[in-house]
Amino acid sequence: MQRVAAAFGRSSRAPDQTPPAASGFTPDQAPTMVDGYLQLDGARFVPVSQLDEFMAAVGTQRRIALRLSTSQYEEVLTTLIERFDADYENAAPEYRAFRYAELICTGCGWTFPGSYRMSLLGMLSPGRMSGGTPGFEEFGKTGVCTRCRSAESFLAYELFPVAEIDAETVAAMRRHWRADARTWWSATGRSKGICDKCNRDMARDAGFLIGRTRLECVDCTDDHLADALEQLRANPYYFGSAELRHCRPFRTG
Ligand SMILES: [Zn+2]
Ligand SMILES: [Zn+2]
Repeated sequence: MQRVAAAFGRSSRAPDQTPPAASGFTPDQAPTMVDGYLQLDGARFVPVSQLDEFMAAVGTQRRIALRLSTSQYEEVLTTLIERFDADYENAAPEYRAFRYAELICTGCGWTFPGSYRMSLLGMLSPGRMSGGTPGFEEFGKTGVCTRCRSAESFLAYELFPVAEIDAETVAAMRRHWRADARTWWSATGRSKGICDKCNRDMARDAGFLIGRTRLECVDCTDDHLADALEQLRANPYYFGSAELRHCRPFRTG
């Protein structure tokens, strides 16, 4: 556990940074196999089930999904950290991609929130944390998905090469947030809303939904994205571990 905490950084792995998604907005889909690849968010991942296979794939592939029994997460992570420490520099893009790998339910496609993963790692003492997604304590003991009862998950690794990040990446992210806002509005019965950042009133269907949870007005979204290109080039996972994957379908170029 200490090894995991040291490699991943206790503070950066905060419990869920965002409040639960608005009810009715459930974009997760059960992962499916297409032509021998695991399909996640419309992208193809090389499926593996052994740690050796995973490490071999890291050398040649950008997207890898390691299937594991969720209750083994801590053990798997500890072993992989030893392997990455041996094979990669701490600042290597591959090591960074591994640090941001997500844990996704095989049954329902839910990306488990930070509180769930930390609970599996024994990094949350009972009763100490408030505000985590409900069910994390039970999940930490059993590894069973609280939505669909699956006991297996994918460790989804994706490397985003910095050289591919350009102005269109940021434009696509903006379109993605706009599309999510439309979906969010259509799932609520509300006739108006409030910007989660500046508290300004917002008309129905307006604004941008950031990280699937925060509704922001145009001005606040502009602020949010003002330095996005530099931020993403410094860290492709800056806006969320899978954000660049989620916005890929919104690229026009
Ligand atoms: Zn599930
Ligand atoms: Zn605002």
